Amino acid sequence: MSPKKLKEFNTTVKDSTCVDVLFGYCYPSTYRVGMTGLALHIFYAILNSREDTSCERYFRYDTSSPALSVESRRPLGDNHIIGFSLTYEEDIINLVQMLDSGNIPVLAEKRTGDDPIVVVGGPVVTANPEPFVDFVDAFVIGEGDLVIHDIVDLVIAGSSRKEVLSQFAEVRGVYVPTVSKLKINRNIILDLDTLDYPVAQIIPDVSEGSRLEPVFGKSFLLEVTRGCGHSCRFCLIGHVCQPRRTRSLGRLKDLVRMGIENTPVSKVSMIGSSLGDLDRLEDLVCWIVDQDLGVSVPSLRADTVSEPLLECLVKSGQRTLTIAPETGSVELRQSIGKGLDNAAIEAAVEMATRSGYNSLKLYFIIGLPGETDDDIKASVDMIVGLAKTSGLKVTASVNPFIPKAQTRWEREPQPPIDELRRKLKLVEKGVKERSKVTIESLDPRNARIQASLSVGDRSLGKVIQTAATYGGYAGWRRAEKETGISFLSLANNAERLQNELPWSFLRK
Ligand code: SF4
Repeated sequence: MSPKKLKEFNTTVKDSTCVDVLFGYCYPSTYRVGMTGLALHIFYAILNSREDTSCERYFRYDTSSPALSVESRRPLGDNHIIGFSLTYEEDIINLVQMLDSGNIPVLAEKRTGDDPIVVVGGPVVTANPEPFVDFVDAFVIGEGDLVIHDIVDLVIAGSSRKEVLSQFAEVRGVYVPTVSKLKINRNIILDLDTLDYPVAQIIPDVSEGSRLEPVFGKSFLLEVTRGCGHSCRFCLIGHVCQPRRTRSLGRLKDLVRMGIENTPVSKVSMIGSSLGDLDRLEDLVCWIVDQDLGVSVPSLRADTVSEPLLECLVKSGQRTLTIAPETGSVELRQSIGKGLDNAAIEAAVEMATRSGYNSLKLYFIIGLPGETDDDIKASVDMIVGLAKTSGLKVTASVNPFIPKAQTRWEREPQPPIDELRRKLKLVEKGVKERSKVTIESLDPRNARIQASLSVGDRSLGKVIQTAATYGGYAGWRRAEKETGISFLSLANNAERLQNELPWSFLRK
């Protein structure tokens, strides 16, 4: 897409000759997904609020080139700092391809003083940066809002690349692989109310349904919480973003007022995990609806849903209730630490039906440690039972278990791909001929790539670099053969996972 055709509101274009630092904010996937991420809006606002810095955006897909900024076609290699948010492990391929397309050496060791400094943050690297060290000059471990100013200040003050990187290594939560350190602390901001927040968010001027439209539609992103008060054994957010923190109701209302004044939208998308745990979520949602605004909330824990809350959400235009039972088996659900009973799930669905919802989205995991075929059958029974009793259209998203670094199940192997496929077929067969049920699933091969990257170590650099030259699952297979690195079997290797873990130097 030509940038001339892509009109956006709230972008910032500065004269690059009048600032000290050029920052390229990169999202290593599609424009649509990148624009849905709050991190993009936060860092864009923070960086451009500095008179000495110009931040422009780059995306792997859907813009005229991954190596030219959306704002002014600034070449990627002209930036002093390039910052990536890595939200999904497989996007490392896109990250490497973006560097290559910008003629920036993909290997950190080959970069010189003329090349940008490549910084990567996000939940994936906060959990385990080790598979990616070959390509990255510095990682931000934890929440980047705390260190972004330090990073820019050190680049301005530094006289050489080497000096800047050694200074970076002194900043709490910044990990520089070439500067050895025994431990790295994770950055966590305790008081969200004191943080600056982007109230003038970038909105693309595209029609509804456009492939450039953000995932939640054109809306003001309202970050309500960070972290989660639960810590389900498999869940990355429940482990690396602890503790759970919440903005006060007063601050959230102020942000909505300012956001709607400065962002040309009429809908608020709430961001946060397990939002139903929030005291007064109902007050906030109903207050937003009273302002004549639409509102969407992400997945809610079934035991936190109330009828008045659902009625307000229906008024705001939300018609799909999203909940994550993870499994239909009560015992297995307890063993994953979910602490949710079937009665709460059934009650939430009944309330949704009474409140005027027309569809239900349910999240399940297959291949969980200790899972039996009876547990799979319990999930099928739950999907079919809820569809039947509620009469709602049901979409069940059934995805393979992916062991994640720093979770309580970090040492659990992922079942073989054939076994995951067999389990998935059991679910599909079980709900077959239910016209109101749709099954969605992540391909077990993609789940395997994610798992291997998630629990891998720094030996994976070569296989990643080779796979980036080919692309797709076949590219990973080919890279495995060419490098002789057993990448795809790594997450299934129970023995290997008993050794010292590659991320053991990261501290909470
Ligand atoms: S699965 Fe949901 S409730 Fe459990 S820890 Fe993760 S975000 Fe929290």
